[in-house]
Amino acid sequence: MADVLLTADRTLMSNYHRNEFLGFGTCAPPNFIPEWLYSYLFFPPLKTSKGQPWTAPYGLRKTEAQLLKEGFKVETVSPNHLGNALKDAKVLGIHAMDPFGLGPASTTLASIFKKEPYLAKHFRALLKSPAIKKAKQNGLKVIVGGPGAWQFKYREKSVKDLDIDCVLEGEGENVVGKLFKAAIEGQEIPRHYEVGVGEVPSLEEIPDIVQPSINGLIEIGRGCCRGCQFCNVTLRPLRWYPIDKVNRELDVNLSSGKVPGTCLHSEDVMLYGSKNTIPNDEKLLALHELVMKKVDGLSWSHCSLAAVASSPKLFSKVSELILQKQTWWGAEVGIETGSGEIAKKIMPAKAHPFRAEDWHDVVVEGMGLMHDNKLVPACTLIVGLPDEREEDVIKTMDLVDDLKDMRSLIVPLFFVPLGKLQNEGWFEETTLSALHKQLLVRCAEHDFYWVDNLLDWSFSGKWYSLIMKEFYKGFSALAKYKVRQIE
Ligand code: SF4
Repeated sequence: MADVLLTADRTLMSNYHRNEFLGFGTCAPPNFIPEWLYSYLFFPPLKTSKGQPWTAPYGLRKTEAQLLKEGFKVETVSPNHLGNALKDAKVLGIHAMDPFGLGPASTTLASIFKKEPYLAKHFRALLKSPAIKKAKQNGLKVIVGGPGAWQFKYREKSVKDLDIDCVLEGEGENVVGKLFKAAIEGQEIPRHYEVGVGEVPSLEEIPDIVQPSINGLIEIGRGCCRGCQFCNVTLRPLRWYPIDKVNRELDVNLSSGKVPGTCLHSEDVMLYGSKNTIPNDEKLLALHELVMKKVDGLSWSHCSLAAVASSPKLFSKVSELILQKQTWWGAEVGIETGSGEIAKKIMPAKAHPFRAEDWHDVVVEGMGLMHDNKLVPACTLIVGLPDEREEDVIKTMDLVDDLKDMRSLIVPLFFVPLGKLQNEGWFEETTLSALHKQLLVRCAEHDFYWVDNLLDWSFSGKWYSLIMKEFYKGFSALAKYKVRQIE
């Protein structure tokens, strides 16, 4: 019997058909596809044994590992099996990624469709579920944490409405133990706990996961040295995991028999082991040699265009290692703007070692290398940055035109005030200019041009590929029709 249960809502408890790109589907609101079909296509539930999911979000696995290390009786459970498990639990920990749909992708889609995104709907449904309500009446304490915890600052009333006892914001390794202990013992716990600078864990203080993570995702580092003003990550110190630690977590996933591959997670995989913005050839190659010997397939969470453009030979060597086992791989990539002036102002180090003024050329060079080496980027653009002028939007549209022949998805996102820009205003759909709309449509046309090709690549070699592919192609055709109505 566990004192502590950990879970997440069903949009997070999915392996997205082993394709993280499909996870973006959770940011959309209910739409023209029936809900049951949409959830199956974009976030099918995880397999479970006795109510425990075979895999779980990596952040939840880290919390689980930390609590186990401190001697707690803890279990991670599927949101569909909470009823029985909650009978004996004293504290429920909930992992939140984008609980109110305030993240850039969901804000954008919610504004366009004028409805709440799936991920917000399911987060609320979990907190309001009869199982949790009943357990709360019997004294259960609820602690919510994860990368989306910042959103509670904008939804303070929801903490009470959803009957949450504590929101934990920041890297929690050094504080979860004391918070969960206090909650179990019935002591007062703070409504909102923000991890202080002195409480951020060092590498030695970050435990290895002990059970498998969704799609084999493992961190290879935390933090980022580029300092973009609109980003929360810059507020954390840069730490790279030693290769032994990466290897141990890889083994936890692979030895479980539940995941054959991995997704390497950091803000810039190309900079693994580096102390600045220049890739470290030796460490990056050693990492990929190790990983590719062990896995069936690999993806990257994020990488930067500047690091790729600055090290074409190294990138091509890494690509050779990866393509021994697969035909392509994916990563999220931040373009953000096509305007050198904006780049210089709010993300001066994003182009480093190149000049911020040359950002357009860095993007074209990096994207060309990715295309040639079969890395498929899901790129983000920010619409409505503070002080953005018409000429900046036009430069971004020109950049999108220049990327036409490069296999990629380009996703425009409305500006969300985070990081050093957290006091700026939110960008609303009502402030979309005619030029912004043109930019949105241009990105959609780019994506529609490439999406069939990407679906062919994503589903090749899988028995259900033909059926699934046709579903997604049908969805894409419908979305294309809707987007063209915006013009
Ligand atoms: S490069 Fe990415 S992670 Fe790093 S500060 Fe900029 S936006 Fe954040």
